[in-house]
Amino acid sequence: MTAPGSGRSAEPASACVDLLGVGFGPANLSLAIAMREDSPRTTAFFLEAQRDPVWQGGMLLDGSNIQNHPSRDLATLRNPRSHYSFLNYLFEVGRLVEHLNLPLEFPLRKEYAQYIQWATNQFRAQVEFGARVTGIAIADVDGAPGYVVTCSDGSRHRGRALVLGTGRTPLVPDPFDKLDSPRVCHLTSYLPTVQNLARAPESIAVIGGSQSAVEIVLDLASRFPRARIVNYVRQYGLRLKDTSPFSEEGFFPEFTDYYFKATRSGKAALDAYLRPTNYSSSDADVLHALYALIYEQRLDGDQRVFVHRNTEVRAVEVDDAGVSFEAEEVHTKDVVTDRADLVVLATGFRDLGPHPHQEPYPALLGGVIDGFQFDADGYLIVEADYSLRPRVDGTPPLFLNGLCESTHGIGDAGSFSLLSLRSATIRDGLRKQGIA
Ligand SMILES: Cc1cc2nc3c(=O)[nH]c(=O)nc-3n(C[C@H](O)[C@H](O)[C@H](O)COP(=O)(O)OP(=O)(O)OC[C@H]3O[C@@H](n4cnc5c(N)ncnc54)[C@H](O)[C@@H]3O)c2cc1C
Repeated sequence: MTAPGSGRSAEPASACVDLLGVGFGPANLSLAIAMREDSPRTTAFFLEAQRDPVWQGGMLLDGSNIQNHPSRDLATLRNPRSHYSFLNYLFEVGRLVEHLNLPLEFPLRKEYAQYIQWATNQFRAQVEFGARVTGIAIADVDGAPGYVVTCSDGSRHRGRALVLGTGRTPLVPDPFDKLDSPRVCHLTSYLPTVQNLARAPESIAVIGGSQSAVEIVLDLASRFPRARIVNYVRQYGLRLKDTSPFSEEGFFPEFTDYYFKATRSGKAALDAYLRPTNYSSSDADVLHALYALIYEQRLDGDQRVFVHRNTEVRAVEVDDAGVSFEAEEVHTKDVVTDRADLVVLATGFRDLGPHPHQEPYPALLGGVIDGFQFDADGYLIVEADYSLRPRVDGTPPLFLNGLCESTHGIGDAGSFSLLSLRSATIRDGLRKQGIA
């Protein structure tokens, strides 16, 4: 894979590349690696909104670890001999033996973020950083239909094919979606929010029952030890992740094929079963730490961390004094009112689909979506190779990278587990379309 010239090609008349990528997180980085290793003559260029991207920088909490086997990384499953593997990263930075001696089940999230940074830096000539894409159109590109992508500074980039790897849209549920306040943040901006507070909050609400929710409650409890922290959870409790190796086969490539062919009701049943392997559940280490913390605080007669189970926030208001809200016990229907200086939404992300908490298509595709098909249930049709199905022949190829859990299953969107194999599938799709 080669760059279309110099590292910066933000001019309106930038050269047309074979593959134009939007976003340069792990998904498109993994694809860039696959293209460089397997298809070096294909020209590719990527646009990344952040100036200095940091993998999940809003949640690089002290002591937090990754949730994937470290070798299910940017490249290894596709090419175990890749230069871009996590193991080779450790070797290159001189930490291999030391790392292997770590008494940890999984590497620290900070170390994995450094690995991704190390790999990213090797693609600087093929990425424009600080380039937020605001519009995508189909237009004549060097005599054939292609993509013209516009960035917030007005610059335009052109490609014969497009791959969207922007990560999933944060889910900000009702009633929080009507607020725009620095007192309410989604987990993706947790660290910058708490690091920039003018003064320590006295009360904090954390909404959600995910791994991130538990990690955030623990982080808040050590960061602001005198604060009252309440975790509002819709379910009966905070659930342990399903780590059965049988369930974990949902992160096998065979499962992706199986899920892809399943009916919509079959997909729903598989989702319901496999959900606790990755969502609305937590690893034992953080769950146990939280339980023990609350127990000890009660022992001391000084409880400051609470988990309010079966509770859903129904109404919320923000004023100068803080955030006040009404929360309902979902079974008894009792309503309590509460207030907090800060609310953290550990409420996850949107998948593609027609249902509440989903989005029908990535908003960035608004200008071209009429050219692609949806099925009778209202789902955007994504082919096995992650390309969208066009309405008319001759539409330039458009691939989704890291957004396809509702068509390809649990292993696809919110996980590293199959990232490198998905890159190989997209690379093959590009070849089939005569791009790579
Ligand atoms: C807190 C947290 C921890 C996680 N930990 C793990 C883990 O341990 N193991 C695991 O397997 N998975 C984990 N995940 C799942 C996560 O989805 C993947 O790790 C990975 O980040 C997905 O990569 P991605 O490239 O698809 O998306 P992202 O990492 O979100 O990257 C998308 C990139 O696109 C850029 N972008 C977005 N919009 C635009 C635009 N308009 N123009 C230009 N650029 C744009 C963004 O700036 C970003 O850099 C975690 C997720 C979270 C939220």
